[in-house]
Parts: sequence; structure tokens; C-alpha cells
Amino acid sequence: MPENQNRHVVVLGGGVIGVSTAVHLLRAGADVTLVTEGELASGASGRSLSWLNSAGTRSSEYHALRMAGIDRYRTLFAQDPSREWLRFGGGVYWDKGDDGGATLGRHEYERAHAYDSHLVAPATVADFTPGLNREALAETAVFNPGEGWVSLPHLIEHLMGEFTRRGGVLKSNVGAARVEVDDAGRASAVVTPAFGTLAADAVVVACGAQTPDVVGPLGVRIDNGSPVSMLVVTEPLEHSVKAVLNTPRAAIRPNPGSTIAIDHDWYEEHIVRDASGAYSIPEPVVDELLEEASRLLEGTPRLKADSWKLGLKPIPGDGEPVFGELEKVPGCYAAFTHSGATLALIAGELIAGEILSGARHPMLATFRPERFDQS
Ligand SMILES: Cc1cc2nc3c(=O)[nH]c(=O)nc-3n(C[C@H](O)[C@H](O)[C@H](O)COP(=O)(O)OP(=O)(O)OC[C@H]3O[C@@H](n4cnc5c(N)ncnc54)[C@H](O)[C@@H]3O)c2cc1C
Repeated sequence: MPENQNRHVVVLGGGVIGVSTAVHLLRAGADVTLVTEGELASGASGRSLSWLNSAGTRSSEYHALRMAGIDRYRTLFAQDPSREWLRFGGGVYWDKGDDGGATLGRHEYERAHAYDSHLVAPATVADFTPGLNREALAETAVFNPGEGWVSLPHLIEHLMGEFTRRGGVLKSNVGAARVEVDDAGRASAVVTPAFGTLAADAVVVACGAQTPDVVGPLGVRIDNGSPVSMLVVTEPLEHSVKAVLNTPRAAIRPNPGSTIAIDHDWYEEHIVRDASGAYSIPEPVVDELLEEASRLLEGTPRLKADSWKLGLKPIPGDGEPVFGELEKVPGCYAAFTHSGATLALIAGELIAGEILSGARHPMLATFRPERFDQS
């Protein structure tokens, strides 16, 4: 396809993947309309732990993409290190189980491919990172100094400033939109309940956990493994935590405004869905999570929830990212991934490049949507 035939692109989905893709398209000179069902960041991007990492075991292709993702955040950080919504304070991890064998195995695996990884113990953790309750720490834990975190609502706001300056058009609260194809089977428009039909040379479906539902009517199968999850944000408190903590009973990170964001999965069975589709969880379960998080902090401060948000966490059925043009629907690109915080900037960059150049990026080769048709 000749360069820039895809002049006008409609991006469907106002989460971090859609917004990043939209901004990268604008940077490369495309006309962009960003269309989303509700408000920006009303999906997973509004309730994400957003730990920036490539820790643990994964395919080398996925690791390489995640490291490129972290690289783009490092560049953003270097442009203004004072931003309180993007920090690189490292990560602390330990596994359940008493003997530390799994944690040690993870550390050795990480060192084998030069992912910066250090063993820490209660007696030494303060030499690496501040603010933790050493009594809560396992005897064997890992500290990964290269990791960080981002607040996605802040990142989206930042990117939308550029989006507006570059002339992007935002249509929010449009309702559930769908992709239309022309007689030749090529994506030609997005049809919205609020604004009718928006013609497009190319369409990006970045609808988070709804992505499989949006491409399904086009005859495209993408398996969906998205679980329901929760993010709790505390009221402001004095604390000196800098790292992201991933521990057996709570995952926490600092959050702007001197608050703490908390996530985990042990409470998933307590989440209920009502007839309207809304999720809720009993408040005592939230209190229990707050206690688990408090235990990790120096001084075990009493944590109070300012908010807790529940909803689907986008995860493709095989756990790997799904990026690229749909073979069955030329002109329609899917972007659906777990770890979308870590990947947001690099995914937007590479997908925008594919749309405008017509050339497939080699780093996305193993993440094509067609793999589900073949499985
Ligand atoms: C609790 C939790 C913890 C997480 N932790 C991490 C982590 O530590 N590290 C990490 O890298 N990632 C993490 N993630 C994942 C990361 O946050 C997500 O991958 C990322 O936010 C997904 O962004 P998205 O733009 O794909 O989807 P979303 O943010 O869900 O946005 C999709 C948007 O599309 C809209 N939409 C859907 N269907 C339609 C339609 N038919 N028409 C119009 N609009 C539509 C939705 O309204 C929504 O606004 C976590 C996520 C959660 C929920």
C-alpha cells in the first residue's frame, strides 16, 4: 500500500491504547477522529495498577516489546522528570510459599537475560528502596530497579493535550460503535449511535476487553480471557514508598496526590455483577485488601479507601498481545493487550507506523490477530 493512503483514521476506544495510537498517527500527519463509548479513560485505563515492567517469565518477543515500551516511558520521563504521574522507583516482588524457591527461580531467570534483578531480604531492603515494613517482607524477595509506574488517566490527559494541538477530533459518549465494511470487504467507516456514520480510510479497534466483541461481527475471532478486577485508591497519607510492590496478598504503588493504588486477584470470587452489568464487591473485602496493603508499609498506617473501581481487565485468550491489520478486513486494525500500560506508547507508535506505511513491523510479527483462526 502506498504511503499515507490511510489519510483519515478513525480510532475506536478512548483508553490509553487508542489515545496513544491516535497521537502517533497525528504526529505522522494523518487526520484522526477518536471515538469512544463514554468518557476517556472510563475503561481499564481508569483503574489500572500500571506497573511498567517486563518481570518474570515470557516469550522473548513479548519481553523485547515490553522493554521497548519501557524505553519510550524513559524518554517521556527524561523530558520532564518532575511529573508526579510517571516515576521509576523500581519494583519489589516475592512469591507465596515459605522457602523462597519460586522467587529465587524468577531472579535467576531475570538475570539470565540481563533484566536488572537483585535479591533483597528484610535486613537489606531499606538499602534498595524506602518506606517498606521490613517485618512484612519475605526472607527472599527481588528488587528490580529499572521498573516504574504511570497513572494512566494523567498520561491520557497529557497525550490529549497534544492530540488537540495537532488537530485531532474527539467524539466521546457516542455509545457502542461498530465497524462498517464496503462492498470489497474493506473497513470504510465507524457507525455510532450518537453521531451516525464516520467515514474512514482505516479504522483502529482499541476497545480493550470489548475488542473481540467489536471484531466478531466482521467474522474475526479473537479469544477473550479478560477477568474482572479492581483498583482501590486510598485517601492521601504520608508515606515514602517509591517502588511498585507485588506480593502474595496485595500489589501496591504510589499514586499522585500522596495516595496509594492497590490491586490483587485473591478477592475476584467476591465480585458480583448485577442485572445491568455493573460490578460490585462487599466493603469488608475492600477493607481486608487495605489491611493487607497497610502491612507492607513502614509504620503500618491505617489506609482508607477514597475509591474502588471494578471492571474487566483486558487479556487476550492466550495472554499474548493482539496487534495489527485484520487479514479478513483490510483497513481494520486491532489493538488488544494485557499489560497495556507498559505497552501503550510503543504499541501506539508501531500500529500508527503500520497504518501509514503499509509495512508490517517485525516486532509485531508474533502478535497477529489471525493466530486465533488457526488455533
Ligand atoms: C486492575 C488492573 C491492573 C492492571 N495492572 C497493569 C500493570 O501493572 N501493568 C500494565 O502494563 N498493565 C496493567 N493493566 C492493564 C492495562 O491497564 C490495560 O491493558 C490498558 O489500560 C488497556 O487500555 P485499552 O485502551 O486497551 O482499554 P481500555 O482502557 O479498557 O479502553 C477501551 C475503551 O474502549 C471503549 N469501547 C469499548 N467498546 C466500544 C465500542 N463498541 N464503541 C466505542 N467505544 C468502545 C471503552 O468504553 C473504553 O473506554 C491493569 C489493568 C487493570 C484493570
